[in-house]
Amino acid sequence: MKKLLCLLLTLIILLSVTGCDLFSPKEQEIADENVKLRVHFIDVGQGDGILLESRGEFVLIDAGEKDKGSTVLKYIKDRGADSLKYVIATHPHSDHIGGLSKVINGIDTENFITVETDQSTSTWMNVLKAVDKNDVNYIDAVVGDKYTFGDATFTILAPLGNHYSGYNNYSVVTMVQCGDIRFLLTGDAEKESEKEMIDAGEDLRADVLKCGHHGSSTSSSAAFLKAVRPSYAIISCGKNNDYGHPHQETIKKLKLMGCTYLRTDTLGTIVASTDGEYLSFTTDKGKSEIATYSAGVAPTGEIALEYIGNKNSHVFHYAECSGAKSMNEKNKVRFATREEAVEAGYTPCSQCNP
Ligand SMILES: [Zn+2]
Ligand SMILES: [Zn+2]
Repeated sequence: MKKLLCLLLTLIILLSVTGCDLFSPKEQEIADENVKLRVHFIDVGQGDGILLESRGEFVLIDAGEKDKGSTVLKYIKDRGADSLKYVIATHPHSDHIGGLSKVINGIDTENFITVETDQSTSTWMNVLKAVDKNDVNYIDAVVGDKYTFGDATFTILAPLGNHYSGYNNYSVVTMVQCGDIRFLLTGDAEKESEKEMIDAGEDLRADVLKCGHHGSSTSSSAAFLKAVRPSYAIISCGKNNDYGHPHQETIKKLKLMGCTYLRTDTLGTIVASTDGEYLSFTTDKGKSEIATYSAGVAPTGEIALEYIGNKNSHVFHYAECSGAKSMNEKNKVRFATREEAVEAGYTPCSQCNP
């Protein structure tokens, strides 16, 4: 077990009796015996490695790069696991599946869930070999399929398509549920997959969102964040990674909607625990590192939109600009970020220069 002094940051979400979006976060510790689900966002540097644990049953989603396989395997065994009920490979990129062969060869694994692609790297082939060699039951991820472990379930929400240009959008997206608490784990799913999930009319509301693609601006579109309305976001990425993850655009959107975000590059391994009603977080690092902690700021589900475009002129402004203020309400279109306005074909106002 980690020798680092663990910090317990406990927050409560009280769903109102009417079922509307009234949150009252406050600090409370959940007694160990009452914890029904733990979600461990293991610090695997630049990559993903997530262990789900409920009543002695374990599910692993990804295992970081190849050199993180032993770290993840040790972590699982330190949790007292002698088997994994399910292993999910979200998509065949090395920062997700590199460590999986080590894990599957090192612990009894019952089922392996993934989406078939044309990936043929030796890293991916090694995972499939390990599945084969250890007689692990191979399951094709099918949207809508639901699996149970302990007191929790996970349901597959994506991928909805099968012709993507990169592997990221093939990511197996899962909604993990325990009682009233939901975690949305998106692998590296990008805006294209996010849009498909929204268009499919799936219920995407979740208390905790693991941001897609390590907090990259290719994921976490404003529309998706509004559909998920997470109180907490987890970003799994490596310190000073080559990609600049997480991107400022993502961080900005999370801040604007009052969502507390926790990063593995600054906090190390992050563990979320729930009794099905309340949530608490434990991290490797000191509380001062949780600079974005914002107890009492309940997400409204509305991103405080800052940019306003004119539907007729296709010019966009800062909300403070006189050009925005004088605009007829019915001509207004709102954007969370500059990039989204530009993407939508709007040009910046020459006065406020957004
Ligand atoms: Zn990745
Ligand atoms: Zn990827």
